[in-house]
Amino acid sequence: PELASESRPAEKRLIVLSGPSGVGKSTVVANLRREHPDVWLSVSATTRAPRPGEQDGVQYHFVTDEEFDRLVAEDELLEWARFAGNRYGTPRGPVQARLTAGAPVLLEIELQGARQIRETMPEAYHVFLAPPSWEELVRRLTGRGTESDEVIRRRLEVAKVELAAEKEFDTTLVNTSVQEVCAELLALIDAPKV
Ligand code: 5GP
Repeated sequence: PELASESRPAEKRLIVLSGPSGVGKSTVVANLRREHPDVWLSVSATTRAPRPGEQDGVQYHFVTDEEFDRLVAEDELLEWARFAGNRYGTPRGPVQARLTAGAPVLLEIELQGARQIRETMPEAYHVFLAPPSWEELVRRLTGRGTESDEVIRRRLEVAKVELAAEKEFDTTLVNTSVQEVCAELLALIDAPKV
């Protein structure tokens, strides 16, 4: 017989949210933190500097290059990747503790990290956050128009490749409204479709 969701193998509760850069993953996660503090989000380690308003231990664990080297060397990260000149990784311990307790885990990570999780934790459920349209993504990536044409051209090239990753995912959520995406994510967390 079907197992009740509570007694499913713990790994099945792991949800990975990923997608192209500029698609709004961090806005979705910021909204979840604010409106749904009950949802447990993995807090990544990063070597990038905090932005105004970011607190150590909340959005990220802000670490030095040396500390990140140590996390990698001691195999304390579930996955890690370089992104825009910095390193980002998911601390293994807290995630494992949650999964062992049968509790849901949400990771918000970029595409290379999602690929690593697919390899190492095949039970994870992968959610692709897609832009409402290519035009909208172009609008978000070209931003304030302060970057050179060359920088923008390269960003759009990368975005094209990133959009093609959608086929690797279990499901797609289109980011038309942050509230809607959050509601859909909450539904997945309650009843992972695996
Ligand atoms: P930001 O610097 O804008 O907060 O994040 C940059 C990118 O890093 C985003 O695409 C975000 O999803 C990704 N990211 C954040 N934490 C992690 C992590 O632990 N692992 C990986 N692979 N990517 C991450």
